[in-house]
Amino acid sequence: MKILEVKNLSKIYGKDETKVVALDNVSFSVKQGEFVAIIGPSGSGKSTLLHILGGVDVPTKGSVIINGTDISTLDETNLAIFRRRQIGLIYQFYNLIPILTVEENLTLPLLLDGRKPNQKIIDSLVKTLGLENRLKHLPSQLSGGQQQRVSIGRALMNNPALMLADEPTGNLDSENTKEIISLLKKFNKENNQTLIVITHDERIALAGDRVIAIEDGRITRDEVKTDEYR
Ligand code: ADP
Ligand code: ADP
Repeated sequence: MKILEVKNLSKIYGKDETKVVALDNVSFSVKQGEFVAIIGPSGSGKSTLLHILGGVDVPTKGSVIINGTDISTLDETNLAIFRRRQIGLIYQFYNLIPILTVEENLTLPLLLDGRKPNQKIIDSLVKTLGLENRLKHLPSQLSGGQQQRVSIGRALMNNPALMLADEPTGNLDSENTKEIISLLKKFNKENNQTLIVITHDERIALAGDRVIAIEDGRITRDEVKTDEYR
């Protein structure tokens, strides 16, 4: 089953002498449970693509269909609801809310959606993420790796169809990088969580099932790994 369909996506910033073609007619689709790494040099269009997939930026042309919904057909209110329920976003610098505790940061997506947190699900997620003894702490009292684990928990809280991560290990040392990669892989393998990760990090690209390379706004390579390399 297709979770994501990207069709003829283009993004042009500026015009005349400031015109930049950030994405140039990009098409691909992602099946449920795939772990896709998107790699490419700086300025190749990776972040632009992720922002459009996450509904935080709009394309100049083309369409994005997530779980059967063309997101361009949603108005602002419905797009916000759709994003909260269907898309989990993970950023390089965590984007946690500094005045809320770890527990409050984790459950915020549910509260915003008017849903009551299911304590069993939260407990199990917190345990997997190793955050049991940090629930009452503020983000500033956590290490970088711990903050990123909170942001992964927050992204998973609404059981999203698609999880999008923009350089999730870009700010972490190699020990924490390994830990975050193995957590992402665990949620991918055990919960069949579909995952798209933008990365410069070869180790993340190796952890994925599929690598899409982008250069100058175009897909130059799209390889699904065979089992013997996993
Ligand atoms: P990457 O994430 O691969 O580094 P980006 O998607 O950030 O690449 O950028 C792709 C191209 O689009 C770059 O040439 C960049 O300068 C340009 N770009 C990105 N955001 C904007 C913007 N808001 N306004 C104008 N140009 C932009
Ligand atoms: P790392 O070695 O991963 O960079 P730190 O040295 O930042 O981690 O933190 C080590 C431990 O101390 C972490 O478990 C973190 O939760 C805890 N810690 C760090 N800063 C604070 C703080 N201001 N208040 C409470 N606990 C903290």
